[in-house]
Amino acid sequence: MTSVLSTPPGAAGSIAAMSPLLQVDHLSKAYGPVRAVEDISFAVRPGEIYGLLGPNGAGKTTTISMICGLLQPDGGRIAVAGQALAADPQAAKRLMGVVPQELALYEELSAAENLEFWGRLAGLDRRTARARTAEMLAALTLSDRAKDPVKTFSGGMKRRVNLGCALLHRPRLILLDEPTVGIDPQARLNILEFVHGLRADGVGVLYTTHYLEEAEALCDRIGIVDHGRMHAEGTLRELQDRLGDQGIFVLEGAWAGAQPDTWPGLREHYRVLSHTDRQLVVAALSERDPADCLRELLALPVRAENVTLKRPSLNDVFLQLTGRNLRE
Ligand code: ATP
Repeated sequence: MTSVLSTPPGAAGSIAAMSPLLQVDHLSKAYGPVRAVEDISFAVRPGEIYGLLGPNGAGKTTTISMICGLLQPDGGRIAVAGQALAADPQAAKRLMGVVPQELALYEELSAAENLEFWGRLAGLDRRTARARTAEMLAALTLSDRAKDPVKTFSGGMKRRVNLGCALLHRPRLILLDEPTVGIDPQARLNILEFVHGLRADGVGVLYTTHYLEEAEALCDRIGIVDHGRMHAEGTLRELQDRLGDQGIFVLEGAWAGAQPDTWPGLREHYRVLSHTDRQLVVAALSERDPADCLRELLALPVRAENVTLKRPSLNDVFLQLTGRNLRE
């Protein structure tokens, strides 16, 4: 994939490039009685894709809106490239590219006109905006549709143009708010590949999503948010290890009406992660020999027909942390 954001020579090796591009400390925001964001902290480093993963209403958009200066926080601190956002919002905004959840495109204008327009808004002169537009259309594999009105584009193509609009001025920090909502799997794949390419250019990416698969496949580190709070953060591996590095047991059987939480043999040694009519998912509370676990689990009052030992998925981690299933 063509590089669309290459930084000037010398910039990549400097100390400033090694410190976080975005530092969020104890951020909070309430809308009347609704505590949309409560005491959220995280950092995004250069060349890193940081995923904020949470269901609808978790507070992701509110967090992004505060970082890009659209909303005033009630508390906490945001720094961009080491500078407090509040001290010089304009300087911070020059370093950022923001891709909002809602498409911000003029449907009657062509793809090229939309890109040029946003490039000019970001402060590029006409010539540079035009040159960057051509580069961006190529990188988005949309050169052949450059002159067509955006209203004739598919949802996925519009999402790509929306993404390109935020990148014309070569931002070092990119905020992407659920950029794949409502598009087909192939279009989603195109966007994920494009975002992957951004990381190779050394930018920092903040990526919000409620799709577990995206967070698993794309993000270097993931922050799990729910009801405005950060429940855990880390690499996928670190998050999975929270459930023990021995894996979890998935037991299939006739569990309808059973109350596994009340079985002493189970409660003493396992945490029940989920329980449905057909499936019981448990994790051992301490390091155990899997063969011993298997023997114990097969001796439960309701006999399992099938037992699988697997590495916890991000969904299992989400379930354990929040008590609910992100897939529901
Ligand atoms: P989604 O992807 O559905 O937008 P989200 O994780 O981005 O979810 P937010 O949009 O930040 O979540 O919303 C967090 C909480 O704040 C929700 O309870 C939401 O209803 C509430 N909220 C968001 N915007 C406003 C507003 N302008 N006025 C009042 N409440 C709001």
